[in-house]
Amino acid sequence: MDLRFTPEEEAFRKEVRAYLDDLLHGEFAGIRGRGGPGDEHSFFDERLAWERRLGADGWTCVGWPAEVGGRGLPLNQQVIYYEEYARAGGPGRLGHIGEGLIGPTLIHFGSPEQQERFLPKIRLGEELWCQGYSEPNAGSDLANLSTRADLDGDEWVLNGQKVWTSLAQWSDWCFVLARTDRDAPKHKGISFLLIRMDAPGVETRPIVQLTGTSEFNEVFFSDARTPADLVVGGVDNGWKVAMGLLSFERGASTLGQQFAFERELREIVAIAERTGRATDPVWRQRLASLHSRLEIMRWNSMRMLTDADRPELSEAAYISKLYWARLHRDLGEALVDVADVDGLLCEQGADDPHSVVRGYALTAAQRLFLFTRSDTIYGGSNQIQRNIIGERALGLPPEPKV
Ligand SMILES: Cc1cc2nc3c(=O)[nH]c(=O)nc-3n(C[C@H](O)[C@H](O)[C@H](O)COP(=O)(O)OP(=O)(O)OC[C@H]3O[C@@H](n4cnc5c(N)ncnc54)[C@H](O)[C@@H]3O)c2cc1C
Repeated sequence: MDLRFTPEEEAFRKEVRAYLDDLLHGEFAGIRGRGGPGDEHSFFDERLAWERRLGADGWTCVGWPAEVGGRGLPLNQQVIYYEEYARAGGPGRLGHIGEGLIGPTLIHFGSPEQQERFLPKIRLGEELWCQGYSEPNAGSDLANLSTRADLDGDEWVLNGQKVWTSLAQWSDWCFVLARTDRDAPKHKGISFLLIRMDAPGVETRPIVQLTGTSEFNEVFFSDARTPADLVVGGVDNGWKVAMGLLSFERGASTLGQQFAFERELREIVAIAERTGRATDPVWRQRLASLHSRLEIMRWNSMRMLTDADRPELSEAAYISKLYWARLHRDLGEALVDVADVDGLLCEQGADDPHSVVRGYALTAAQRLFLFTRSDTIYGGSNQIQRNIIGERALGLPPEPKV
């Protein structure tokens, strides 16, 4: 396999780099590197302006087909875009659930009317989205969900509770999995509905996380109504749509994330050098291991790219989430650990208006450390990833079902 990019692709890289560097060292310099893991509450207005600027300049939704307003970039160029975005310190994207999850789902399963109604506003950063899948009794076992929707005239009436709903407090819309046929078997009788977050009967309660801030929320539906035609992919066909959406979650954007990880590792090495730990044999071993794992992650991403035209998921794709989640958690730990006792000190006086601990703010390293604990949970926990690898990639016997 040839792992080099072509001259055209390298020219494209230059174009993206120039565009991003220009904005992130000029008008948007204040949000360079902000809004990432554990920092997602910061600079909301500025990041919304950034989202809209990218949209106006045609630099959102780069992988969407041109017919629906995207750039229609081939996979390699999408990867280059996301690599450059991470390298430039592009801020955490407020529109990533719209662009990366519901957008591709509507392109694949949505009606022409739904596509026309929603896709332009996602692309332009005018409407933000959140994902209403998980419930208190339905996480890894998602099909256990009990939120229900009943048709009343030309509206669905929703009742139930979602939990861990990222960015719900800032979202305009939510896509919700709800049971529409209570007599059907577990995986059937579920529909994929769209509802406005400001509809009467929708209540969002932020959950305070380890970081003291709230990336995710509880969302309650009490007789909340949404039009009957806002069901995607057909009534009672939501499981298929829901699984289709999850396959988009592993899109090209995750292939660029090793650049963000690389920046974190560089910071760890810089602190190790400043504090003399870079000459400590145990620390040298740890740094070398992190470096090697990061390289392996990059090569694995390249293998995924090479395999992208295979109809079935490749081995590289199966191990990807498990591999990067563990690595990122270890990077978070090392970032706090390398500063030794100093790593435990908060920034006194730098009051964080979003923090529950008044008078103090967590450092960026502490926020990252705490947030990376969740990497091995969301998007399929490590245990679930191992089950999937065992059953689907290695063909081992399935786990016993109760
Ligand atoms: C930061 C963050 C953001 C999130 N954002 C969203 C969001 O926007 N929208 C949304 O819908 N959800 C979101 N989630 C929820 C996420 O999808 C769930 O946390 C995840 O699916 C796990 O479900 P659970 O928390 O209910 O844990 P459970 O499923 O209850 O699992 C508990 C433990 O049991 C283990 N376990 C469960 N089943 C098995 C099994 N069969 N074999 C072996 N071990 C098993 C798990 O690995 C885990 O360790 C988010 C979660 C986090 C942490």
